Amino acid sequence: SRKLTVITGASSGLGLNCAACLAKTGRHFVVMAVRDVEKGKRVAKEFGMPEGSYVVMKLELGSLQSVRDFVSNLKAFKSIRPVDNLICNAAVYKPTDPEPAWTDDGFEQSMGINHFGHFLLTNLMVDDMAKAKGARMCIVGSITGNTNTVGGGLVYPQADLGKLQGFESGAREPISMADGKPFFGAKAYKDSKVCNMMTVSELHRRYHDSTGIAFSSMYPGCIADTPLFREKRPWFRKAFPWFMKYVTGGYVGMEEAGERLAQVVDDPECTKSDVYWSWNGGAQQVGRWSPDGKPRGAGGSGGEIFENAQSDAVRDRETASKMWDLSAKAVGLT
Ligand code: NDP
Repeated sequence: SRKLTVITGASSGLGLNCAACLAKTGRHFVVMAVRDVEKGKRVAKEFGMPEGSYVVMKLELGSLQSVRDFVSNLKAFKSIRPVDNLICNAAVYKPTDPEPAWTDDGFEQSMGINHFGHFLLTNLMVDDMAKAKGARMCIVGSITGNTNTVGGGLVYPQADLGKLQGFESGAREPISMADGKPFFGAKAYKDSKVCNMMTVSELHRRYHDSTGIAFSSMYPGCIADTPLFREKRPWFRKAFPWFMKYVTGGYVGMEEAGERLAQVVDDPECTKSDVYWSWNGGAQQVGRWSPDGKPRGAGGSGGEIFENAQSDAVRDRETASKMWDLSAKAVGLT
C-alpha cells in the first residue's frame, strides 16, 4: 500500500520536483500543502503527476489558524491517516526588503513562515504520525545556517540567535529578529533555517523514543535557479547558477534536488533519526538510490548521500531547548 506523504510548499522549486518524483514512484500518495491551491493544481498537471497520486490542500504557513485548519482537514480525510511522511519545505527569503513584513499573527515573515508555521505543524502532527510504522519527518535545512561551511560561515551575514531576546519578548511586531536587533532580511532567513535544524534535534530528543518517528534535516545542494532568489537582482540570478556550477561545484539542478529530497522519505536506508542528510560531489552523478530503482546518470563520482555534521551553533543544546520553549509559547502550544 502507498505511503501518505505531506509536502509543504509543493507548488514550486524543490517541493514541486520532490512531489512529482514521489508521485511517479507509485509508492506515495502525495498531499501537496500549498498557499495557492489553484497554482498547486496547475503545476501538478504541468509536471505530469499521475491522476489519483496526489491531492492539493490549502496551507498558509503565515497563519497559525491556517496551520491548525490544515491539520484538522487532514484528519477529516479518512484515507489520509495516519500520515507516514511529513516534509517541511516551504520558505521565503527576503534579503532586499528594507522593512520587515509580517504574518497574520505578527511574526516577521521569514521566521514566521519558515520556522513558526512549521514548528506548530510538526508539533500538531507528531501524535498522528506516531501511529504509522516507520514514519519520517524532514525539515529542509540549509548550509546557510551552518557556520562551519563556506556558504554558511564566510558569506555575510552569519546566522546568530543571540540570547533569543526577540523570542523572549514575544517575537511579534514590532520585534522582527530572534535576537531582538533591528531587521536584517538576509540574516532573518538564516536564523529561521538554524531554528529549523534545531527543531529537528529537539523533536528527536523529545519524541523519537516514544514515537519511533525518524526526524531529519537535509541540504539539497545549491539550487541556484529556483524562484527563492526572485528578489535578487537580474545579474545575480544570471551569474549565480553559473558561479555555483563552475566555480564552487555545489550547484544542483532542480529535478535532481527534488530527487534528493524524495530519497530522504523513500529510500529504505534513510531511516535514521537526528540526521542532517547531504550529498557529496557534483550534480548529475550516479546515486545509489533513484526514483525508479535503476541507476541513473552516466557515471562519475559523487552524488552519494551521507550523514553530515551539524554546526556547533545548531548543536548548541541550551539555545535549542530555549528556542523550543519560546517557540511553543509563541505559537500558543503552551
Ligand atoms: P521556492 O521559492 O521555489 O519554493 C518555496 C515554496 O514555499 C513555494 O512553493 C511557495 O509557494 C512556498 N511558500 C512560500 N510562502 C509560503 C506560505 N506563507 N505558506 C505556504 N507556502 C509558502 O524555493 P526553493 O524550492 O528553492 O526552496 C525550498 C526549500 O529549499 C526552502 O526550505 C529553502 O530554504 C531550501 N533551500 C533552498 C536552496 C536553494 O539553493 N534554492 C538551498 C538550500 C535550501 P508558492 O509556490 O505559492 O510561491
